[in-house]
Amino acid sequence: MKQAIDPNKIFDIYSRYLEKELNQERVTHAEILRLINRYKTEKLFSIQKIGESIEQKEIFCISIGKGKRNILVWSQMHGDEPTATAALFDLLNFFRFNDEYDFFRQEIFEQLQIHFIPMLNPDGSDDHKRENKISVDINRDSLRRESPEAKILWNISRKVNPEFAFNLHDQNSYYTAGRVNKSSAISMLAPPYDFNNSINPVRNRSMQLIASINKNLSRYIPGHIARYKDDHEPRSFGDTFIGNGISSILIESGFIKGDKNKETIRKLNFIALISAFKSIIASDFEQMNQYDYYSIPENESLLFDLLLRNLITSANGNNFKIDIGINREKIFDKENRKFFYKSKITSIGDLENYFGIEEHDLYGYNVKPGSIYSAEFKTFPSSNEIERMHENGFTTIKFDPFSVDFTFVEKPINVVPSYLKYNPAITVDEYANLQIFCDNKLKYVVVNGFVCPLENYSNSILNGVVIS
Ligand SMILES: [Zn+2]
Repeated sequence: MKQAIDPNKIFDIYSRYLEKELNQERVTHAEILRLINRYKTEKLFSIQKIGESIEQKEIFCISIGKGKRNILVWSQMHGDEPTATAALFDLLNFFRFNDEYDFFRQEIFEQLQIHFIPMLNPDGSDDHKRENKISVDINRDSLRRESPEAKILWNISRKVNPEFAFNLHDQNSYYTAGRVNKSSAISMLAPPYDFNNSINPVRNRSMQLIASINKNLSRYIPGHIARYKDDHEPRSFGDTFIGNGISSILIESGFIKGDKNKETIRKLNFIALISAFKSIIASDFEQMNQYDYYSIPENESLLFDLLLRNLITSANGNNFKIDIGINREKIFDKENRKFFYKSKITSIGDLENYFGIEEHDLYGYNVKPGSIYSAEFKTFPSSNEIERMHENGFTTIKFDPFSVDFTFVEKPINVVPSYLKYNPAITVDEYANLQIFCDNKLKYVVVNGFVCPLENYSNSILNGVVIS
């Protein structure tokens, strides 16, 4: 009997297919190589080496199905955008599984040929950076195709001539889905192939399929799906492919509150692709139209990691009401193979129409820059000493420059080499270190963009930075 696919159910049982060896926060070439080597013996997959990166790391295409309709899917052409790579391996596990969805699998195998390139940019991925080895953004190399990775993608697209191409990325966490306080968890784009934002039948099909994916995904994350900005970029692959007759779809993994390591976003990628394949087989996306596509709200950059509202700052003897928006940049430290945060003040003034992932209304509170403790340290003070410093408004310590052999600080305090003449200030692009007072009593310190309450002291500061 023909079993109908209930995407609700797939959402619930997704954990069956989760590839536990991958962590979507960071995926390396060695990790996917281990999985691909294991899959080489499996009849289900046809695995082909399609080239090498500049550092001679192998790039593979994993194909399934024997159908007439070809689909190309690639991930991590930007090395620091690994969420979808993990989701692709969940999807490969889904195909390897036997359960109540066998009928759906059979349909896919008979009607489609899906070609997956997980990790197009292994050199960038291993360093967790966007570009490739020679710092070329592969998604700005679709015309010149100087980098081997761009050549590889172009060649495979010529070879399989896909009906649909899925280009999988991560976007920053500061987008909302429209002008509302809802983060953009998944955004999609049918890329424009010219500067007039024209629509031809090839792009129209991308729009229809996106509208169909949106309809399916919306039931899980209503209000959190957005349309990526449609500025034409002639050097990017999606735009180039649409101009060459391939209906391309950009999917960007965004952010949803409470999903710090993007486990939910990874799952949503999985569901998005499953629902796309289902819709392609049934051709039901053809019932959608441009209106459905354009009614998906556009990505707006309205979020900060931390938004402090209604503070009072003083200058020239006058008081002014300001909001302060702070972003915490997550940086991969190559030496320690660890992530850390470096926070800066991004915006000051009227941020009424913006939102904070973390927000505090500090109406009537006064704000000043964090202070620097005057003594020079060679080793770190104890946790208790740091707590005393926080209680007195110190957010940074001076350090003997010869002892600063680290790039970030695991302790909840910042470090400035003592030779550096550094004047903390509340200005845009400045390190986010603040003292916040109520009736002249210090209530909070903000250290490296993390708020630390001084009554009922609790250390919520994940790390400090070296100010340079
Ligand atoms: Zn990207």
